[in-house]
Amino acid sequence: MSRFWSPLVHGLTPYVPGEQSNDDGLIKLNTNENPYGPSPAVLAAIRAAVTDTLRLYPDPHAEALRRTLAAHHGVDPEQVFVGNGSDEVLAHTFQGLLKHPAPLLFPDLTYSFYPTYCRLFGIDFRQVPVDAAMQVRVADYRQECGAIILPNPNAPTSIALSPAAIEGLVHDHAEQVVVIDEAYVDFGAESVVPLVSRHPNLLVIQTLSKARSLAGLRVGFAIGQRPLIEALERVKNSFNSYPLDRLALAGAAAAYADQAWFEETRGRIIASRDRLRAALLELGFEVPASLTNFLFARHPLHEGPGLAAKLRERAILVRNFRQPRITDHLRITVGTDAQCDRLLTALRELV
Ligand SMILES: *Cc1c(COP(=O)(O)O)cnc(C)c1O
Repeated sequence: MSRFWSPLVHGLTPYVPGEQSNDDGLIKLNTNENPYGPSPAVLAAIRAAVTDTLRLYPDPHAEALRRTLAAHHGVDPEQVFVGNGSDEVLAHTFQGLLKHPAPLLFPDLTYSFYPTYCRLFGIDFRQVPVDAAMQVRVADYRQECGAIILPNPNAPTSIALSPAAIEGLVHDHAEQVVVIDEAYVDFGAESVVPLVSRHPNLLVIQTLSKARSLAGLRVGFAIGQRPLIEALERVKNSFNSYPLDRLALAGAAAAYADQAWFEETRGRIIASRDRLRAALLELGFEVPASLTNFLFARHPLHEGPGLAAKLRERAILVRNFRQPRITDHLRITVGTDAQCDRLLTALRELV
């Protein structure tokens, strides 16, 4: 606390990310990072960008990357907005599209950056409870609101909605913006990017941090019809002309040129996830079927904080949330099979 702070800063409760450590001995299953590195083609493209041209500003419009993303998703480059991680794209979206007199709706169990952005930007919000099975029920969103945002699959529950359910929601709220945060969509769920051409109120956000294994490069993007994208550009151009540096622009585009690497690594993660879930179920955990790169597990006989602390003593990091309804859950990122086996060995001693 300081008397020099603005009233806004006094009122903030910042988001706290999972522990980030450089200790190689730790097994990091706490921040949903990809256990496999990015494509060698990405590293080569970044190295090739390390030249004298770093003295020049990068392209403020990221034209080449936007063309690559547009071609990959079958949309027009004018329908693509890029930012410094999807967190920045989300921040601009909250300010530019989700701040209205009526409250913004999102699930009670969801990405905890959403309420944080609402407090930062002074956005009124209402949380809609997920059901007893932790599923989002789109019918519960039929209420007066200014806009809606949902991750699909949802985090930290790992459960996905079908494109038909999302289209119903988008259709029910034709006068409001509906944002779908698809951070984990590449691990088995179906993207709603193909619905953008039919729905002027739908904005889809994706990241290169998870399935493309580039959390350290900070690249995310949004796809929507032109008026929504223009709102994001207006906010961005009032904030930072160059959110993506030259290395990020080069590396991100190269990630989409190596589709084989993407398919191979996400296939391995999906196989490890399903194997880890089966083993956790055998140990007595309750674990919903996941379409993400993490599992959301609860043991009926063990408290979450204690279990997380005992795993930490064994050099294994998992995420536990001090939040109603889910204090006893662990969010476990799917690592390599070897890392999953280390986790299972520890859990067999603990439960
Ligand atoms: C990881 C994550 C993000 C943020 O991704 P970055 O692109 O790394 O900022 C956004 N939304 C959800 C739901 C996430 O889990």
